[in-house]
Amino acid sequence: MKRPLGKDDLKILSGILGIENDILIGLSDKDLLKHSQAKALLIKTEYDRLVQEGKNKKCRIMADLATKYGVSKSYIEIFIYNKVNGKSYYCSCCGRKISLYQSKKNSGKCNICTNKND
Ligand SMILES: [Zn+2]
Repeated sequence: MKRPLGKDDLKILSGILGIENDILIGLSDKDLLKHSQAKALLIKTEYDRLVQEGKNKKCRIMADLATKYGVSKSYIEIFIYNKVNGKSYYCSCCGRKISLYQSKKNSGKCNICTNKND
């Protein structure tokens, strides 16, 4: 985690969890808050909101969030697409489920997104 959670992040988190901001700040100050988990939740929530707004493509949103939170894009992909066990593969651009073969061939993208970028 390059960037620790700031006061603004905790405020948003307090809204998501329905926990008072002061309590979260207290937990964070005493090092009782798992920042990596909290950050994952913040990113996932913001990602869902931005996808709903539909202003940017999913791959663009992920890249922006990666920059904002100082994490890698693949880190975000892991919990957005639940790629943990590696059994399912999803297009890194549109989220469509793809085969392992397709994922390898197109470096993580579905055929449609790969053709769009050419
Ligand atoms: Zn795609």
